[in-house]
This record gives sequence, C-alpha cells and structure tokens, in this order.
Amino acid sequence: MDKLNKIYVEPTSRCNLSCVTCIRHSWDEPFGDMEWPVYEALINGLEAFPEAKTIAFAGFGEPLVHPRFPEMIRLAHERGLRTEMTSNAMLLTSALAEKLIDAGLDQFTVSIDGTSEEAHGAVRPGASLERITENVQKLYWWSKKKRTEQLGIASEPESVCCAVPSLSEFEHMLLAPMAHRADIEPSAPLKIGIEFVAMKSNIHELPAIQEIAAKIRASYIIVSNVLPYTAEMQGEILYNMGPTSYEGEGATFNPLWILPKMDWNRDTLKPLTKIMSQQPNLSYLDINLNQRNNYCPFVQPGSLAVAWHGGVSPCPPLLHSYTCYLRGWKKSFRRCEYGRLPEESLRAIWEKPEYPAFRERVRKFEFSPCTDCGGCDDAEKNELDCYGNPFPVCGDCLWARGVLRCA
Ligand code: SF4
Ligand code: SF4
Ligand code: SF4
Repeated sequence: MDKLNKIYVEPTSRCNLSCVTCIRHSWDEPFGDMEWPVYEALINGLEAFPEAKTIAFAGFGEPLVHPRFPEMIRLAHERGLRTEMTSNAMLLTSALAEKLIDAGLDQFTVSIDGTSEEAHGAVRPGASLERITENVQKLYWWSKKKRTEQLGIASEPESVCCAVPSLSEFEHMLLAPMAHRADIEPSAPLKIGIEFVAMKSNIHELPAIQEIAAKIRASYIIVSNVLPYTAEMQGEILYNMGPTSYEGEGATFNPLWILPKMDWNRDTLKPLTKIMSQQPNLSYLDINLNQRNNYCPFVQPGSLAVAWHGGVSPCPPLLHSYTCYLRGWKKSFRRCEYGRLPEESLRAIWEKPEYPAFRERVRKFEFSPCTDCGGCDDAEKNELDCYGNPFPVCGDCLWARGVLRCA
C-alpha cells in the first residue's frame, strides 16, 4: 500500500474576505462547513495509516470561520498529529488564539500580499495589515506563555501572565532583544510563517516582507505565483520565463549552465537575469532548477485532500471545479474525488484500484506536456490528453512545475 504522510483538510469553503486572487471567484457551487461526523471519520480513519504525521488545514476558505475549528485542532493533536493551518488572520482574536494554542496548534501560516495597507488591501479588500500583525503577535504570545508554563518557568510579571497584555505590552515583549530573553524564556513551540502571492503589482514589496516577518516572529516566508482565475488577473503573472516553465532537459545544443554563488548586485544582476530567463537547462549551486518540473508536490510525498463535504481528492487543486487562464487560454479543471467520508472509510478510498493507478501515473508523470505546447481542444479541460491518459490529466498543472506553491 502507498504511504500516506500528510492530509490537507478544508474545514469550510466559506470565507470572511473576497480576495481578487481567490479561486472561489470561478466556482459555481454552494459553500459549506465540514460536519463533525465527516471530520471524526477522517481522524478515526487515520488509525489505518500510522505513518501519517501531519494534518494541514489549508483548503479554499478561511478555517477560522468554522465554528468548531479549535476542537478540530484538539482532536488531531490528541491523536498525535502535527497540526498546521493557513489563515488570513483577520478573525484571530486573542480569545481564539488562546484556544488554538491550548488545542495544540503547531504551525500557523498567515497570508500577506503586501507590506502597506494600500497594497495588501488592493489584493485583500477589507483586510487590515495592522490588525493581522497584531493578531499573529497575540498568537505568538499565547504560544510562548503556554510553553513557559509547561516548562515551569515563571519569568513573566504576574500582571502579564494572568491577563492578555495590551498592544503596547505586546510590542514591548515581542521586540525585546532576544539575547536578553534567551536565558529566561524558552523559544515558542509554535512555528509561524508568511505566504505571499507574487504579482506584477506587488513584487516590489516582497523585500519588505522581512520586516513584517520580524514583527510576528515568522521563521519562513513562502512565495507563490498567482494563478489567474479571472481574465483581469492575467496581466499579473510573473512566470513567462525559461527555467521555471520549460519541462524538458533542453535540446542537445543547449548546454547545462552551472552557476555558482555570486553577489546579486548592479554588475551581476542584468547578465544573470538574462541567462536565467533564457536557459531551460540551468543549475544554481548544484541545484537543477528543472528538477521540480513534473513533480507533484502533493502526490509524490504521499498526501491527499479532503473537501468540506467529505470528498477525498488527490490534492487541494482537484478539490473543486474551476476555470483559470493559462497561456491566454481559458481552461476548465473538473474536480476529482475518489470517495466520500463518512460513507466510505479512508483506507477503502485510498486503496480503490483507480486511485493508486492515478498516483502511479502522477509519479511517472507521463502526461502530455500541455504547458509547453501550442495547445489544442483537449487542453481546454483536464479530461484527457493526446498521450491517451484518462481523467484527470496533469500536464498543465502549475503546481507540478514549481510555479505555484503553498505551505
Ligand atoms: S482569504 Fe483565501 S479563501 Fe478567503 S477570499 Fe482570500 S484567497 Fe479566498
Ligand atoms: S499534478 Fe497537479 S493536478 Fe495532478 S495531482 Fe498533482 S497537484 Fe493535483
Ligand atoms: S493535449 Fe493538446 S495541448 Fe496538450 S500536449 Fe497534446 S496537443 Fe498539446
């Protein structure tokens, strides 16, 4: 039996925001919350997969909208799973942050698409960068407080330990020099990160994300490209370039470029950029930039995804039917589900013959190279391809090209 390592769960498809980049603009389906028997069936079903270690609440929708979300975290934590989530953090009140930490949250990724209120608000109307930053700071504070208590270290003044600090107190605590604090407090067990969707209109803000990362104690920043779900977003893409879009090893007359570590400055930037944008066959610090072409970041490491209604799919991108724009073409992706909880068990779904057969096709990745082709009628859908593969075909998947990323 194939190993299952990680489960992506969509607690709800509802959201408190309506971002311009959101896939939900192209949906034609009802929104809903995961019912408790579905979630219980998932968690109980994982007993058949002792190697499954991580559950990530990161579908399409805001997990904090689900009324029982902290209970979901708690149940997964009690079963020994590492718990991760991605959120827009607007609903993360101090009380909710405390509940999440108590429940056993291990990793929190916050979506931030700009470093000024204007830029962030242009992508995420109604969101406040200041509020998000404060909310994640509170989450960090609760995490640290719990950790401190667990280790029996009473280093905080009583007034701070027993009540939620004011914002100025948060600032003071979070911005205090690490060296001063290191000997009296353990590091927070919660891992915090930022997810940034890079576009033509916000890429110039990317370097300053580092400052926000410092404020919220983020230990990683994951950058994805945008997938245009509306015609208007097509002008925002940043990936009409060689190494990241070309799937093959390059023609024989096209040599492998092996680049060393080098300063990126006024002298090097222009020639290096030119080489990197023209050469499909390129290795940087002995890392071949082609190696993540034709690599599914979900199926290859052994993941699956569960929609709010219990449908079990191979990956988050196949949880829903949607349309998007690739190479100037409108393309329809049909959702793919191999079974549904709680009617069927997770193991029964995982082992249905057609599901392992699909996983094997993805691992071999012998799909038609639609992303590099001029296109045909078949490429307007993910139903079949010119190599004779059945539904769903993945030759046009930008996650499998390393263009789209998620935490
Ligand atoms: S926060 Fe996520 S789910 Fe909500 S509207 Fe934005 S992109 Fe969509
Ligand atoms: S290649 Fe893309 S569509 Fe296919 S299973 Fe992986 S993520 Fe899903
Ligand atoms: S299915 Fe169509 S678009 Fe894809 S590689 Fe074949 S001919 Fe090209």
